Amino acid sequence: MNFEDTYRHKGLRKKLVETIRQKGIKDEKVLQAIEKIPRHYFFDSAFLSFAYEDKAFPIGAGQTISQPYTVAFQSELLDIHKGDKVLEVGTGSGYQACILSEMGAKVFSIERQKSLFMKVKEFLPQLNYPIKVFYGDGYKGLPTFAPFDKIIITAAAPYIPEPLKEQLKVGGIMLVPLGGGDIQIMTSLHKVSETEFISREYGAFRFVPLLQDKANDK
Ligand code: SAH
Repeated sequence: MNFEDTYRHKGLRKKLVETIRQKGIKDEKVLQAIEKIPRHYFFDSAFLSFAYEDKAFPIGAGQTISQPYTVAFQSELLDIHKGDKVLEVGTGSGYQACILSEMGAKVFSIERQKSLFMKVKEFLPQLNYPIKVFYGDGYKGLPTFAPFDKIIITAAAPYIPEPLKEQLKVGGIMLVPLGGGDIQIMTSLHKVSETEFISREYGAFRFVPLLQDKANDK
Protein backbone atom coordinates (compact mmCIF):
# COMPACT_ATOMS: atom_id res chain seq x y z
CA MET A 1 0.00 0.00 0.00
CA ASN A 2 1.38 3.33 -1.04
CA PHE A 3 0.42 5.99 1.50
CA GLU A 4 0.93 9.12 -0.51
CA ASP A 5 -1.08 12.15 0.52
CA THR A 6 -0.36 14.94 -1.93
CA TYR A 7 -1.37 18.63 -1.95
CA ARG A 8 -3.95 17.68 -4.55
CA HIS A 9 -5.51 15.12 -2.19
CA LYS A 10 -5.47 17.63 0.66
CA GLY A 11 -7.14 20.22 -1.57
CA LEU A 12 -9.84 17.76 -2.60
CA ARG A 13 -10.46 16.96 1.08
CA LYS A 14 -10.88 20.65 1.92
CA LYS A 15 -13.49 20.87 -0.82
CA LEU A 16 -15.25 17.77 0.45
CA VAL A 17 -15.37 19.28 3.94
CA GLU A 18 -16.96 22.44 2.50
CA THR A 19 -19.58 20.34 0.69
CA ILE A 20 -20.41 18.51 3.90
CA ARG A 21 -20.51 21.74 5.90
CA GLN A 22 -22.95 23.21 3.38
CA LYS A 23 -25.15 20.14 3.76
CA GLY A 24 -25.53 21.06 7.44
CA ILE A 25 -22.79 19.35 9.47
CA LYS A 26 -21.61 21.68 12.25
CA ASP A 27 -19.47 19.58 14.61
CA GLU A 28 -15.94 20.91 14.04
CA LYS A 29 -14.41 17.69 15.40
CA VAL A 30 -16.19 15.74 12.66
CA LEU A 31 -15.15 18.18 9.94
CA GLN A 32 -11.54 18.21 11.15
CA ALA A 33 -11.40 14.40 11.15
CA ILE A 34 -12.69 14.30 7.57
CA GLU A 35 -10.15 16.91 6.55
CA LYS A 36 -7.35 14.98 8.21
CA ILE A 37 -7.98 11.36 7.15
CA PRO A 38 -6.96 10.48 3.58
CA ARG A 39 -10.12 8.74 2.35
CA HIS A 40 -8.24 7.62 -0.76
CA TYR A 41 -6.22 5.21 1.40
CA PHE A 42 -9.41 3.19 1.74
CA PHE A 43 -9.81 2.77 -2.02
CA ASP A 44 -8.11 0.40 -4.42
CA SER A 45 -5.64 2.39 -6.48
CA ALA A 46 -7.68 2.08 -9.69
CA PHE A 47 -10.51 4.06 -8.08
CA LEU A 48 -8.56 6.82 -6.33
CA SER A 49 -10.27 9.56 -8.31
CA PHE A 50 -13.62 8.67 -6.69
CA ALA A 51 -12.34 9.05 -3.13
CA TYR A 52 -13.31 12.69 -2.66
CA GLU A 53 -16.75 12.63 -4.20
CA ASP A 54 -19.53 12.76 -1.65
CA LYS A 55 -20.71 9.29 -2.60
CA ALA A 56 -20.70 5.71 -1.34
CA PHE A 57 -18.37 3.39 -3.27
CA PRO A 58 -17.94 -0.41 -3.62
CA ILE A 59 -15.16 -1.91 -1.48
CA GLY A 60 -15.56 -5.59 -2.46
CA ALA A 61 -17.62 -8.48 -1.06
CA GLY A 62 -20.75 -6.62 -2.23
CA GLN A 63 -20.21 -3.89 0.39
CA THR A 64 -19.61 -0.14 0.25
CA ILE A 65 -17.68 2.58 2.04
CA SER A 66 -20.43 4.95 3.25
CA GLN A 67 -20.98 8.37 1.69
CA PRO A 68 -18.83 10.98 3.51
CA TYR A 69 -21.93 13.03 4.38
CA THR A 70 -23.51 9.95 5.98
CA VAL A 71 -20.33 9.25 7.96
CA ALA A 72 -20.33 12.88 9.12
CA PHE A 73 -24.05 12.80 9.96
CA GLN A 74 -23.72 9.68 12.10
CA SER A 75 -20.51 10.91 13.74
CA GLU A 76 -22.15 14.22 14.67
CA LEU A 77 -25.25 12.56 16.15
CA LEU A 78 -23.06 10.27 18.27
CA ASP A 79 -21.86 13.36 20.17
CA ILE A 80 -18.37 11.96 20.71
CA HIS A 81 -16.40 12.96 23.77
CA LYS A 82 -12.77 12.06 24.25
CA GLY A 83 -12.45 8.57 25.68
CA ASP A 84 -15.97 7.42 24.73
CA LYS A 85 -16.07 3.67 24.23
CA VAL A 86 -17.79 3.11 20.90
CA LEU A 87 -19.00 -0.08 19.26
CA GLU A 88 -19.31 0.03 15.48
CA VAL A 89 -21.29 -2.69 13.70
CA GLY A 90 -20.09 -3.05 10.09
CA THR A 91 -16.37 -2.17 9.87
CA GLY A 92 -16.39 -2.26 6.06
CA SER A 93 -13.40 -0.26 4.86
CA GLY A 94 -12.58 1.00 8.37
CA TYR A 95 -13.09 4.65 7.37
CA GLN A 96 -15.91 5.42 9.81
CA ALA A 97 -13.94 3.74 12.60
CA CYS A 98 -10.93 5.97 11.85
CA ILE A 99 -13.07 9.12 11.91
CA LEU A 100 -14.38 8.19 15.37
CA SER A 101 -10.90 7.28 16.57
CA GLU A 102 -9.53 10.61 15.30
CA MET A 103 -12.33 12.32 17.27
CA GLY A 104 -10.99 10.69 20.45
CA ALA A 105 -13.22 7.62 20.78
CA LYS A 106 -11.97 4.17 21.77
CA VAL A 107 -13.37 2.16 18.89
CA PHE A 108 -14.37 -1.51 18.79
CA SER A 109 -15.67 -2.60 15.41
CA ILE A 110 -17.28 -5.84 14.16
CA GLU A 111 -17.38 -7.11 10.57
CA ARG A 112 -19.00 -10.32 9.35
CA GLN A 113 -17.38 -10.56 5.90
CA LYS A 114 -14.13 -12.41 6.42
CA SER A 115 -12.34 -10.87 3.44
CA LEU A 116 -13.08 -7.31 4.60
CA PHE A 117 -12.16 -8.15 8.18
CA MET A 118 -8.78 -9.59 7.09
CA LYS A 119 -8.09 -6.52 5.00
CA VAL A 120 -8.78 -3.95 7.73
CA LYS A 121 -7.01 -6.01 10.38
CA GLU A 122 -3.82 -5.61 8.40
CA PHE A 123 -4.48 -2.12 7.10
CA LEU A 124 -5.69 -0.16 10.16
CA PRO A 125 -2.55 -0.63 12.29
CA GLN A 126 -0.56 0.95 9.45
CA LEU A 127 -2.56 4.15 9.97
CA ASN A 128 -1.74 4.09 13.69
CA TYR A 129 -5.30 4.23 14.93
CA PRO A 130 -5.74 2.01 18.00
CA ILE A 131 -8.98 0.48 16.72
CA LYS A 132 -9.92 -3.04 17.79
CA VAL A 133 -11.53 -5.02 14.98
CA PHE A 134 -13.44 -8.28 15.39
CA TYR A 135 -14.75 -10.89 12.99
CA GLY A 136 -18.27 -11.77 14.06
CA ASP A 137 -21.97 -11.09 14.01
CA GLY A 138 -22.94 -7.54 14.85
CA TYR A 139 -26.43 -8.64 15.94
CA LYS A 140 -24.73 -10.17 18.99
CA GLY A 141 -22.44 -7.20 19.71
CA LEU A 142 -19.35 -7.68 21.86
CA PRO A 143 -20.56 -8.77 25.32
CA THR A 144 -16.99 -9.21 26.57
CA PHE A 145 -16.19 -5.53 26.05
CA ALA A 146 -19.58 -4.06 27.02
CA PRO A 147 -20.93 -1.68 28.14
CA PHE A 148 -20.39 1.00 25.48
CA ASP A 149 -21.02 4.76 25.68
CA LYS A 150 -22.11 4.81 22.06
CA ILE A 151 -23.10 2.19 19.45
CA ILE A 152 -23.19 2.92 15.73
CA ILE A 153 -24.69 0.52 13.21
CA THR A 154 -23.49 1.24 9.67
CA ALA A 155 -25.74 -1.22 7.80
CA ALA A 156 -29.52 -1.33 7.34
CA ALA A 157 -31.08 -3.05 10.36
CA PRO A 158 -34.60 -4.49 10.00
CA TYR A 159 -34.97 -4.13 13.79
CA ILE A 160 -32.80 -3.10 16.74
CA PRO A 161 -30.92 -6.13 18.06
CA GLU A 162 -31.74 -6.73 21.73
CA PRO A 163 -28.13 -7.59 22.74
CA LEU A 164 -26.99 -4.18 21.49
CA LYS A 165 -29.58 -2.41 23.65
CA GLU A 166 -28.24 -4.35 26.63
CA GLN A 167 -24.63 -3.49 25.79
CA LEU A 168 -25.33 0.27 25.77
CA LYS A 169 -24.59 2.22 28.97
CA VAL A 170 -27.40 4.09 30.69
CA GLY A 171 -26.97 7.64 29.34
CA GLY A 172 -25.57 6.24 26.10
CA ILE A 173 -26.64 6.72 22.48
CA MET A 174 -27.19 4.12 19.77
CA LEU A 175 -27.55 5.11 16.13
CA VAL A 176 -29.20 2.77 13.68
CA PRO A 177 -30.41 3.08 10.09
CA LEU A 178 -33.74 1.28 10.58
CA GLY A 179 -35.60 -0.53 7.84
CA GLY A 180 -35.31 -3.72 5.86
CA GLY A 181 -36.22 -2.25 2.45
CA ASP A 182 -34.42 0.11 0.06
CA ILE A 183 -34.54 3.11 2.37
CA GLN A 184 -33.76 3.39 6.05
CA ILE A 185 -34.71 5.96 8.66
CA MET A 186 -31.73 7.11 10.69
CA THR A 187 -32.86 6.52 14.26
CA SER A 188 -31.20 7.38 17.56
CA LEU A 189 -31.93 5.60 20.82
CA HIS A 190 -31.02 7.29 24.08
CA LYS A 191 -30.88 4.81 26.95
CA VAL A 192 -32.43 6.61 29.91
CA SER A 193 -32.59 3.62 32.31
CA GLU A 194 -31.87 -0.11 32.16
CA THR A 195 -35.25 -0.63 30.51
CA GLU A 196 -36.23 2.70 28.94
CA PHE A 197 -35.16 4.23 25.64
CA ILE A 198 -36.13 7.46 23.92
CA SER A 199 -35.98 7.27 20.14
CA ARG A 200 -35.73 10.03 17.53
CA GLU A 201 -35.82 9.91 13.74
CA TYR A 202 -33.57 11.87 11.38
CA GLY A 203 -34.69 11.24 7.83
CA ALA A 204 -33.96 8.80 5.05
CA PHE A 205 -30.67 7.14 4.15
CA ARG A 206 -29.62 4.18 2.07
CA PHE A 207 -27.41 1.43 3.51
CA VAL A 208 -26.38 -2.11 2.54
CA PRO A 209 -28.23 -4.67 4.68
CA LEU A 210 -27.16 -5.86 8.11
CA LEU A 211 -26.98 -9.57 7.33
CA GLN A 212 -28.45 -12.14 9.66
CA ASP A 213 -26.63 -15.33 8.72
CA LYS A 214 -23.13 -16.25 7.69
CA ALA A 215 -24.05 -18.34 4.65
CA ASN A 216 -22.46 -15.89 2.22
CA ASP A 217 -19.08 -15.69 3.88
CA LYS A 218 -16.06 -15.63 1.66
N1 SAH B 1 -18.64 1.61 8.21
C1 SAH B 1 -18.17 1.17 6.91
C2 SAH B 1 -19.28 0.98 5.89
C3 SAH B 1 -19.99 -0.23 6.17
S1 SAH B 1 -20.98 -0.97 4.92
C4 SAH B 1 -17.12 2.07 6.35
O1 SAH B 1 -16.80 3.09 6.94
O2 SAH B 1 -16.56 1.73 5.30
C5 SAH B 1 -21.74 -2.13 6.02
C6 SAH B 1 -20.84 -3.22 6.53
O3 SAH B 1 -21.59 -4.00 7.45
C7 SAH B 1 -20.37 -4.19 5.44
O4 SAH B 1 -18.98 -4.27 5.44
C8 SAH B 1 -21.02 -5.51 5.84
O5 SAH B 1 -20.24 -6.64 5.52
C9 SAH B 1 -21.18 -5.35 7.34
N2 SAH B 1 -22.19 -6.22 7.94
C10 SAH B 1 -23.36 -6.63 7.41
N3 SAH B 1 -24.02 -7.42 8.30
C11 SAH B 1 -23.24 -7.49 9.41
C12 SAH B 1 -23.38 -8.16 10.66
N4 SAH B 1 -24.44 -8.91 10.96
N5 SAH B 1 -22.38 -8.01 11.57
C13 SAH B 1 -21.28 -7.24 11.31
N6 SAH B 1 -21.10 -6.59 10.13
C14 SAH B 1 -22.07 -6.72 9.19
